[in-house]
Amino acid sequence: MSAGLWETLPSVRDMLAQYGITPSKKFGQNFLFDRNITDKIVRAASVPVGTHVIEVGPGPGALTRSLLDAGYDVTAFEIDRNIFPLLEDMAKKESRFHPVLQDAMKTDLAAIPAPRAVVANLPYNVGTNLVIGWLQKIHADPSFMTSITVMLQKEVAERFTAQPRTPEYGRASILAQWLCHAEILFEVPKEVFFPQPKVTSAILRLIPRKERAYNPPLKLVEDITRDAFNQRRKMIKAGLKNHVGYFEVAGIDAQLRPEAIPVDLYLKLAETVSNDKPA
Ligand code: SAM
Repeated sequence: MSAGLWETLPSVRDMLAQYGITPSKKFGQNFLFDRNITDKIVRAASVPVGTHVIEVGPGPGALTRSLLDAGYDVTAFEIDRNIFPLLEDMAKKESRFHPVLQDAMKTDLAAIPAPRAVVANLPYNVGTNLVIGWLQKIHADPSFMTSITVMLQKEVAERFTAQPRTPEYGRASILAQWLCHAEILFEVPKEVFFPQPKVTSAILRLIPRKERAYNPPLKLVEDITRDAFNQRRKMIKAGLKNHVGYFEVAGIDAQLRPEAIPVDLYLKLAETVSNDKPA
């Protein structure tokens, strides 16, 4: 077996210097240098060989090296044109690497060959919106991604896995757990990044469910959860006053706060409303 990129390329730190890259706040750049961490992320993601891996924001390419050395084909979308020459030079050394200079927020990932999975250390400024956008696609097509493994700020990652009656529980928890098996794989201390962020990070993994217990329209779930959590401190009947008539069938106690209602009951409510008033 030939030596991998970690063995043949200069260190990531040296490559930053060589290409004159200084981390930019605007693009949420906190870089990883440590192969132990990036190899650990790739192992934990457990993406089957033969799956096309999509990376958002490769930066100077530490995680990219680990993905390529593990044998995956990788397409990576990077917005920062200052970093792009480094990625183009990496692609000259490894033909399985396809860097694209493009804003991931404006990218249709359905154009990448399937089966496909995301493995990325996401830019914090757009991380939540990217994940929510992918979940919306998964709603329409569960085979859109086989898995999504992303590093986010710990508090942000926890919103997707939170259980009822916790401060992080909300709209993202309901959407993610309805459509996917959602778990936090491990935390990553802030000391391993350059520059060092203020908070701890965590690796979130989402695996789309093959079967869903409920199948209400996405827009209705989004509307109901927005109205409910807009009044987080009040009883659920305040935020969802137009739907109170369906609470009994859905098994919802009108006196509870939105954060005390389990995921399934929101979905049952949406399905009950939808069956009664077909769109
Ligand atoms: N993956 C690298 C690592 O772990 O060292 C860099 C991670 S850094 C947190 C986020 C990366 O996403 C940066 O390289 C940044 O330029 C890039 N980025 C920010 N916004 C982006 C967007 N909208 N589309 C694509 N890349 C973006």
